[in-house]
Amino acid sequence: MIPLRGRSTTTGWTQPRTDIWQIARPDDPRVSERALLLDDDGRTRDGAGLYISKDQFLSGPGPTVHVPDELGHLAPGDVVVVSDDGTRVNVAWKATATHNSILLTERCDHYCLMCSQPPKDGDDSYLYGRAKRIISALPFAAKAVSLTGGEPTIDPHAFLDLLEHIAATRPNLSTHILSNGRRFSDKAFTTEYASVAIEDMMVGIPLYAADPSLHDYIVQSEDAFNTSVKGILNLVAAGAGVEIRVVIQKANVAQLSELARYITRNLPFVNQVVLMGLEMTGLARPNTDLVWVDPHDYRRELREAYHLLSSAGIYTRIYNHQLCVVDRELWPAAVQSISDWKNDYPDLCQPCSVKDQCSGVFSTSGSRLSPNLRPIVDVEMSS
Ligand code: SF4
Repeated sequence: MIPLRGRSTTTGWTQPRTDIWQIARPDDPRVSERALLLDDDGRTRDGAGLYISKDQFLSGPGPTVHVPDELGHLAPGDVVVVSDDGTRVNVAWKATATHNSILLTERCDHYCLMCSQPPKDGDDSYLYGRAKRIISALPFAAKAVSLTGGEPTIDPHAFLDLLEHIAATRPNLSTHILSNGRRFSDKAFTTEYASVAIEDMMVGIPLYAADPSLHDYIVQSEDAFNTSVKGILNLVAAGAGVEIRVVIQKANVAQLSELARYITRNLPFVNQVVLMGLEMTGLARPNTDLVWVDPHDYRRELREAYHLLSSAGIYTRIYNHQLCVVDRELWPAAVQSISDWKNDYPDLCQPCSVKDQCSGVFSTSGSRLSPNLRPIVDVEMSS
């Protein structure tokens, strides 16, 4: 697990011109707009907008933030958010990470039983503006971003404004949006969304059951199934990319094949379907008895759903599943999908011959893991 926030101290503090800073390379010609890491042996340059020191006793020739040991991983290309008084540093972007996401809001019109980021009702509208500043600060090499919530479209105008900002500044940034899909049931909104000139953009929308009442129960919201399906249909009609996300849990595992069949018959034109394992954090913890199911126990259901979807020509992937609890025939579809900062491999994984190809576990799930994880010692996988 990579810590992404920490308490900091300051030296020579005057409130900088912005809260968002890309960490510059030492030879960066735009260093005055960026933050510079102080070298281990104290070498530095004048003129940086901000200095970041991993040493409590080493300061730069300008306002300096001294970060705690847990943020010792900071490196050029990362983007940090620094509080006005310099006492808190959050990492908004890890240049080396395979997945980077930006939170747009904690508000949501669903209250899913297993939500890993339980919705909050307060006014967090500042997050959309912050997201724009993060996008502006991204390193040139940034390739892909995930926009998350809450429900990213909860403020439709702020959401579209952010997308227009990406289109204007980083049109090549592959943009994935995790949405419950309901906003897209509004045709006018969807038309506007689909006209944004970002080259590669996709919405990932959850569908948890073919039975509308079961889907609505899992997301704890009336008429959710019908509205989300309408959103998917509007997106496809507008020529936009759609991914269906199925989080497998106690309530829907027995009906997984039925859902796969529903998708093959009614939504075969989506770009991809992702069959996902649970992250046992957020609401999933108090709801453990309602949601938890050991992936080892639903291998047959996963295999059936995968084959139904793939045989219909739908690109299907398996996320968040450990290889040792998935049938080997499905391994080629199992993706290392867990974000680097919360990805872990328990001690038992150390001798495993497929560790480098396995998604491992969510560190956020704590000890709530399959009791059937076992190192695999007899396989060599080609990468
Ligand atoms: S033992 Fe660990 S690394 Fe190996 S397949 Fe299982 S979870 Fe993955």
